Amino acid sequence: MKEDYYDILGVSKGATDSEIKKAYRKMALKYHPDKNPDDKEAEEKFKKAAEAYEVLSNPDKKARYDQFGHQAFDGAGGFGGGGMNMDDIFSQFGDIFGGAFGGGGFSGFGGGGRRVVKGSNLRIRVKLNLEEVANGVEKKIKVKRKVQAPGTTYKTCTTCNGTGQVTRVTNTILGRMQTATTCQTCGGAGQIIDKKPSDADAQGLKVTEETVSVKIPAGVVDGMQLKVTSKGNDAPGNGISGDLLVVISEEEHPTLKREGDNLHYDMYVSLPDAVLGTSKEIDTVSGKVRIKIDAGVQSGKILRLRGKGIPSINGYGKGDLLVHVNVWTPKTLSKKQKEFFENMRDDEHFEPKPESSDKSFFEKVKDMFS
Ligand SMILES: [Zn+2]
Repeated sequence: MKEDYYDILGVSKGATDSEIKKAYRKMALKYHPDKNPDDKEAEEKFKKAAEAYEVLSNPDKKARYDQFGHQAFDGAGGFGGGGMNMDDIFSQFGDIFGGAFGGGGFSGFGGGGRRVVKGSNLRIRVKLNLEEVANGVEKKIKVKRKVQAPGTTYKTCTTCNGTGQVTRVTNTILGRMQTATTCQTCGGAGQIIDKKPSDADAQGLKVTEETVSVKIPAGVVDGMQLKVTSKGNDAPGNGISGDLLVVISEEEHPTLKREGDNLHYDMYVSLPDAVLGTSKEIDTVSGKVRIKIDAGVQSGKILRLRGKGIPSINGYGKGDLLVHVNVWTPKTLSKKQKEFFENMRDDEHFEPKPESSDKSFFEKVKDMFS
């Protein structure tokens, strides 16, 4: 069971932004790795606090967390959110400490080892139709990514002697602190390029096209981002590859309109069909389905096909398909047809007599969202 973010920071659920910020600032100062060298417990607390703050300081993420809890971030498909690396944590510090710790001015964990250089992330947009959204799909995506050029060799950086960092003393809000800065020559990797082929860039990388297979879970929403680990750009030398971020773009369906996990379909029936009853074929995300229309159906009636909507991305069941009945009134009539309707006008049987079961439009809307 993952600890509650509010508990981690020691604030109540109703805490204001500034209370959250203040609580995090206190925790970060207390458990900062430079103040607790080689203390694994402090390091864990520091990381947890950073993760909690990352979520609670972001209005979007906070809203999702308040609604869904931790599940909001570790749903199907490996969405990002939880689990921060040190670079992320220190990039937060700009806002919190006004740059007191500086970006990257940090020794890293595990006894001041080399900094692991990570390649840049790539972002790609993938178009999905509604059927793919509803059923989930595996997509083969062509990605142009930088990979290490074969034949590139590395040697130990002479500026930092392979440690990846240069030590300096700074004045911070905690007093004088010795901090290690990332070596500018090697970018913290501890090694620099020795030889590289002529088609490689300055980092010994070259662009290749690769086909990446991405499993997209059912129920994704337009704008959602899925992470494919290590399919971004390579890092030079012994660094780790960046990630591929797949952004979902949802195509509009010609007849089905999505609203959350529910779908809406507008069905038109002729006057005779409405009076006599019929059956009609409609589109669903799993092919065509024939549905029965009872004789005497009212315009505005909503037929609910349970479970024929979109599966919830969180795995809580499926939405419904709501079929809206519209009775089509002809705009012109032949002389004979006109005579027929003229006669019906005087027939008392055609007088509207709504029953309590014929709900008004507003009652139906209320039902739909309940
Ligand atoms: Zn270096």
